[in-house]
Amino acid sequence: MKIGMSHGAGGGIMQGLISDIILENLKNKSVNGGVGLDDLDDGASIPMEDYEIVVSTDSHTVDPIFFPGGDIGTISIAGTVNDVSVMGAKPLAITNAMVISEGFSGEDFEKIIKSMDAVCREAGVSIITGDTKVMEHDKLDKIVIATTGIGIVKKGEIKRDSGLEVGNKIILTGSVGDHGISLMSYREGFGFETDLQSDVAPVWCMVEAALKVGGVTAMKDPTRGGIANALNEMASKSGVGMLIDEEKIPLKAEVIAASEMLGLDPYEVANEGKVVMGVEADKAEETLEAIRKTKYGKDAQIIGEVTDNVHVVIETLLGGKRILEAPIADPVPRVC
Ligand code: MG
Repeated sequence: MKIGMSHGAGGGIMQGLISDIILENLKNKSVNGGVGLDDLDDGASIPMEDYEIVVSTDSHTVDPIFFPGGDIGTISIAGTVNDVSVMGAKPLAITNAMVISEGFSGEDFEKIIKSMDAVCREAGVSIITGDTKVMEHDKLDKIVIATTGIGIVKKGEIKRDSGLEVGNKIILTGSVGDHGISLMSYREGFGFETDLQSDVAPVWCMVEAALKVGGVTAMKDPTRGGIANALNEMASKSGVGMLIDEEKIPLKAEVIAASEMLGLDPYEVANEGKVVMGVEADKAEETLEAIRKTKYGKDAQIIGEVTDNVHVVIETLLGGKRILEAPIADPVPRVC
């Protein structure tokens, strides 16, 4: 077998590669009974006496490296910090490994570092160690950045993908498809006609506000594969289904227009500043209000609820019902 682009595109094909080669050949995959590699959650945990250390790692290959709303530096910090955040842990630190192509512009490199610094300051995290390597220009496409995020949470308060319970409400913190669709529009040359931008941003402020209310049961950031992937993954890991009200899913008019032009489904493309969460029904309204008061949460909605069905079912705008399937791969390659 040969590895193809879809093996890195966050859907069923990538899951196959992870299960068949990575998980199969690694024997030590968790520490002290914490969340480990086999859990395939947003991050992992190392339980200590009173706290758990949460760790998540991500390499970034986004193309182009500068895009509307951000750049590879923004996404390298936000993406990793967000995976730590949706485990319920306050992000504290980042490690940063960069592989740069020979001939890369020093000015562009500085811009990327400054973008990283801006997100770090906003999210309250520090880059505490790093590594810099250079490869020959014909052997690497511009720059690859790998970051590891470290956070901390009180023991027993981690939020797993698998924590949904029947009757929970599902909250989505804002509009979907902005990152994937804006990136693809820009690549295809439609980017200058709309003001559509990536939603790349650190989500901790929304997560923190929701956690304070006390009813969150599960969280995930809907990155590669979009909400279609995130909702299905949470449902299947929790052994439940969902009923989603399509009318409640926030979608920008520009995203709908560009999706039609590009032939893409905005539910299947990446978001870089959103959270999907399960919340106890009696705390859902209060949690929604708390999220709406934060910097990125004003468009948050309760989009549905957890059922004892085995599928994620969408009640469509026309009143019918359809099953929302997880995509076999994110239709937009090199999206983060
Ligand atoms: Mg994630």
